[in-house]
Amino acid sequence: MQAEIVSIGTELLLGEIVDTNAAFIARQLASIGLNLFFKTTVGDNAERIAYVLRQAMERSDVIITTGGLGPTVDDVTREGVALAVGRPLRESKEALRHIEAFFKRRGRHLSENNRRQARIPEGATVIPNPVGTAPGFIVEHEGRLIISLPGVPREMEHLMRTSVIPFLRERLHTGETVIKSKVLRTCAIGESSIDERIADLMRSSNPTVGLAAHVGQTDIRITAKAHSQAEADRLIADMEARVRARVGEYIYGTGQETLEEVVARLLAQRNARVSIIESNTEGNVARRLKGTPAGPDVVSADMVVLDDLSGLRALGLEMATAGDHIFSVEETAELAKTWRQKTGATYGLAVLGSHGEKEGLYGERPGYTYIAIADETGHVTRRALNIGGSDPLSRTWVENHALDLLRRVLLGLPIP
Ligand code: ATP
Ligand code: MG
Repeated sequence: MQAEIVSIGTELLLGEIVDTNAAFIARQLASIGLNLFFKTTVGDNAERIAYVLRQAMERSDVIITTGGLGPTVDDVTREGVALAVGRPLRESKEALRHIEAFFKRRGRHLSENNRRQARIPEGATVIPNPVGTAPGFIVEHEGRLIISLPGVPREMEHLMRTSVIPFLRERLHTGETVIKSKVLRTCAIGESSIDERIADLMRSSNPTVGLAAHVGQTDIRITAKAHSQAEADRLIADMEARVRARVGEYIYGTGQETLEEVVARLLAQRNARVSIIESNTEGNVARRLKGTPAGPDVVSADMVVLDDLSGLRALGLEMATAGDHIFSVEETAELAKTWRQKTGATYGLAVLGSHGEKEGLYGERPGYTYIAIADETGHVTRRALNIGGSDPLSRTWVENHALDLLRRVLLGLPIP
């Protein structure tokens, strides 16, 4: 059995509100093991709603709509569903009774508009709505189910939980199918590079393996479907091992863990502290680390240098300032060493790069950044990146590379 969600509302289409209902419904469907293959958004227009529903009925068994059941003229989901299945709208006595009861409880008068809400496609089953005026309804048509729910999230969620899910569970006879997911978080590697390395695993059907790219980091989501939690866990563990064998060194954490949390924790576990000096990341590397639970204890000192190098001279460091390239990779390494010594930290981290407005991932030039990490033995790990600039996207990439380099040093992983 396959399901599909149709979110209805011009506000959604125009991006004035975010479609949180579809996300909620998707999670609920996953909890009963119902496959969801499509989500569509359509505006408040009866013909277009009908068009989308007819398409949906060609490929899905269950179609859940949300929105457009209100009393006003722009709420046309009832009309859209009626058109799609070729049935007239009829005032449902049952629906009217529920609406009247709702108004009576509130001591309010039932308007002609609200009476419209009782008009549902002929033969539809009413889903009573104790938390609002608009009842939902279910239409069965040529072996397909169209389930229409209100748009107000609180009302939709209530009807999903108390009526729709129990109803679908019974229809499915799936018993307690569980769907479980695990997210492996990677950084400092592009989505396409991961894709290249695990392409064959991404064709697996159970568990499925999917990628979600964010700025400077990509999530690998493994989702298993099974008859028990234990079986789902086993399927996920097997797939996780295969994924890790390919891209393990790029995986810094799982679930909701952030890179900075992981790095701060690694430092804390080793009783180590880091002093950070940074330029084009404008203090973000230190800020991100310090913002984590372990953060305040693991950052010894932090400093931002941009064009004013007087702070550096005070540290006894003479930097070349001629031309575009203010720093060299050697100077960055030197700075990491000196900064570590002066602040008495376990590690000195220097992140120095260009910060021109026209530089960056989508700039006219890529820009550049040097990262160096000095340890207590005097050894310096360094990395040159072809990314610089001052836009937030490029900056996040640079920050993640810097944090990842520190993670690799702490774990003794290979340096790219
Ligand atoms: P009403 O009786 O309030 O008119 P309705 O069923 O007609 O209910 P809509 O008019 O489509 O629902 O939406 C009512 C409100 O619910 C919207 O203004 C919006 O704030 C919220 N809403 C609607 N659809 C969604 C959605 N998909 N995700 C999140 N919020 C939504
Ligand atoms: Mg409305």
